Amino acid sequence: MRVSKNIQRYIDEQKSLEDRLFGAVLVAGVVIVWISMIVTFIEKLSDTSNIGPIASAIMLLVVLYVAYGLKKMDLARLMLCYVLNCLVIPLAFFSCGGIDSGMPLYMLAGLFLVVPVLKGAKRIICLIVSYITDIACIIVSYYFMPSGFVEEQEVKLVAHLSLEARVIDMISSLILIGLYIIITTTIIMDAYQKERESTAELLMKLDELSSKDELTGLYNRRELFRFLEDKPVKDDERYYLCMIDIDHFKKLNDTYGHFFGNVVLKQLAAIMMQEACDENNELVVRYGGEEFLIIIKADRQEDAYRRMDRMRANFVDVRWDKDPDLVTSFSGGLVRFARFGSTAEAIDYADKLLYAAKEGGRNRISM
Ligand code: GH3
Ligand code: MG
Ligand code: MG
Repeated sequence: MRVSKNIQRYIDEQKSLEDRLFGAVLVAGVVIVWISMIVTFIEKLSDTSNIGPIASAIMLLVVLYVAYGLKKMDLARLMLCYVLNCLVIPLAFFSCGGIDSGMPLYMLAGLFLVVPVLKGAKRIICLIVSYITDIACIIVSYYFMPSGFVEEQEVKLVAHLSLEARVIDMISSLILIGLYIIITTTIIMDAYQKERESTAELLMKLDELSSKDELTGLYNRRELFRFLEDKPVKDDERYYLCMIDIDHFKKLNDTYGHFFGNVVLKQLAAIMMQEACDENNELVVRYGGEEFLIIIKADRQEDAYRRMDRMRANFVDVRWDKDPDLVTSFSGGLVRFARFGSTAEAIDYADKLLYAAKEGGRNRISM
């Protein structure tokens, strides 16, 4: 289907919106990690605890480079999610104080980021892997007590939970709040996605309605002028324009009825569409009541003429149920488009040739 420039631009913008969203998430991630790194330095933790934030900050810069330096967006999306959830956060978790640090909140943020960045199966797999990594970090920190774990006694001052209870509490909160965030974000993102898709679909439908003729399904005059404006048709020597008018159509209407007249119009439209197609960048237009305009491509003038004459012959060959003796025909005026300074001039001249064909006895193409 032919889509207008404006609609195409809208659809393209929607596609780049996703990349912009990802860019925002990535840049925000880099900024947060770098600020965290600076805060860690200010906190003056041990040298080993500085390794995590530094490594994380560097890793995110690498992702940034893959996205914008190498322009590999899909790889960068995957890298961001896995690097963040499976490397950056675990590293920071172990080097910055385990469950007593703010790291479990980062874990939630990491899970939350996966939803807008990845889609479908990739999203689900990454979330499962991230969850397993996060829970493993908490369990490992429980068994191996990294430097950040605060003594149980100290903790009692602020919370009356045992160390085991705190670990269980941490894991269950992570799972529950994580699920809550993931589900709500997924619903919001998917609803937004569907809304955009249906808007694009609706616009394309409206575009089609505004560019086509209802009876024959052919393009209308508006599309003709858009086509001739959009494409560099004028400079291409291969484009031919033919104006067509059905012979004695008024009489046909009067004899067989208006409804049958419509059947004839549709049949001729089908014959022309069989000959010229969108894929070849050709166009068939219902220009008026029983007048059509067709733009075809041909290397030589004789080829263009032969194609038009084949359509004429096919129309003559149609056997009508209503009256087997009825012979339908059309006349046409064919011009090479590049020979004219403007569309109006070309159409005007094709119309003159059409008139000559009618004068010459009808059922013929004048060139
Ligand atoms: P000529 O060979 O000189 O072209 O004669 P003609 O009778 O075809 O010429 P004219 O332009 O006078 O007639 C066109 C007729 O087409 C008049 C009109 O009623 C009919 N017509 C226009 N639009 C439609 C349509 O959508 N359906 C039907 N059935 N007829 C239509
Ligand atoms: Mg007419
Ligand atoms: Mg006519």
